[in-house]
Amino acid sequence: MKLDTRAIRYLTGEDWRVLTAAEMGSKNHEVVPTPLISQISGLRGASGVNRSISNLAKVGLIAKVKNAKYDGYRLTYGGLDYLALNTFIKRKSVYSIGNQVGVGKESDIYVVADESGKQIILKIHRLGRISFRTVKANRDYLRNRNSASWMYMSRLAAMKEFAFMKILKDNGFPVPTPLDQARHCVLMELIDSYPLRQVTSIADPPKLYADLMALILQFASQGLIHGDFNEFNILVNEETQQPVVIDFPQMVSIDHANAKEYFDRDVQCIKTFFERKFKFVSDDEGPTWDDVKRTGKLDIEVEASGFSKKQAKELDKYLQQITQLGEREGNEAGGDVSAEDEDEDGDEGEGEPEQGSDAEEEEVEDEHSNLSKNSHEMKN
Ligand code: ADP
Ligand code: MG
Repeated sequence: MKLDTRAIRYLTGEDWRVLTAAEMGSKNHEVVPTPLISQISGLRGASGVNRSISNLAKVGLIAKVKNAKYDGYRLTYGGLDYLALNTFIKRKSVYSIGNQVGVGKESDIYVVADESGKQIILKIHRLGRISFRTVKANRDYLRNRNSASWMYMSRLAAMKEFAFMKILKDNGFPVPTPLDQARHCVLMELIDSYPLRQVTSIADPPKLYADLMALILQFASQGLIHGDFNEFNILVNEETQQPVVIDFPQMVSIDHANAKEYFDRDVQCIKTFFERKFKFVSDDEGPTWDDVKRTGKLDIEVEASGFSKKQAKELDKYLQQITQLGEREGNEAGGDVSAEDEDEDGDEGEGEPEQGSDAEEEEVEDEHSNLSKNSHEMKN
């Protein structure tokens, strides 16, 4: 899914209203009927609405869907991207969009700039995307999960990541500073380092190994397990050799049912990597689960910071199902995820949206700023 921001300057205020209406309508409708879009948008006159619908469909922000009973539209990932970006732009968190720097299996990473020109990272969560292109069994399993639920899960992932990064940063952990979050997107500090996997010069592997194991234990002592602690999610500065940890949607409490398993797996990932890459095997067999001494409770505190237990459960359930389907094993740098972007093949399930629509919804702004009026420079 490529983020193409070229059209963002050309959308009118009415277009934004209609796009927002399509988003709101898709909370309860897999295919949003045109009259409903019109009604939610609050715009008078069908011709304006129709013009906007056709503008938005032309640039791929909504897609026409023929349903057994009626025709309508659904918001695409591109449409959701625009809405999130518009929110960031209005909040003055983002000013311009730069290049894509990473493609994870469940996210796209871009360098963007804020108003002062400072470069920051935009992480766009894209849960569910991979399911489209994988084996049939997955398709069958995921059939009845509609696009609205993927968008919802992506938003939960962004909310969770932001909440955890904030609490970790506030407690002195080496993580990027979280800057803002909207819908399925997180803005964070750009770390001038590469994933351990790519770093060619590690001066002192035993030291880095010890630092990383200490970090796993520090997380655990605060009640947390990263859950995906591997050479892709640890950025190491070539000069200072300092590690920074990223990627938190799967972080769990040490009271989680699978906590020990995740802890052991995090430890094992580092062991395996150091052995393979540096032929380094520590004399110390640990750390083990028994070494974990809880001294803090960030796992509890984070619940008070905008990511509820209920939301955590919903996301956890989804991620576990994906894991069982064998889709979440590491990241492949430069993977081929762009091959199948949107679910344009039209075989989505037609069931009712099953996401927790009673969960707290992010407020959809009333204002529909016209970006073309702003002098925002959207490169690329
Ligand atoms: P995913 O969940 O898709 O694995 P990650 O958060 O791990 O996404 O990010 C994917 C890649 O993007 C990372 O391996 C790294 O190369 C790059 N990246 C992510 N966040 C940052 C950051 N804050 N600073 C620098 N590079 C980053
Ligand atoms: Mg990652």
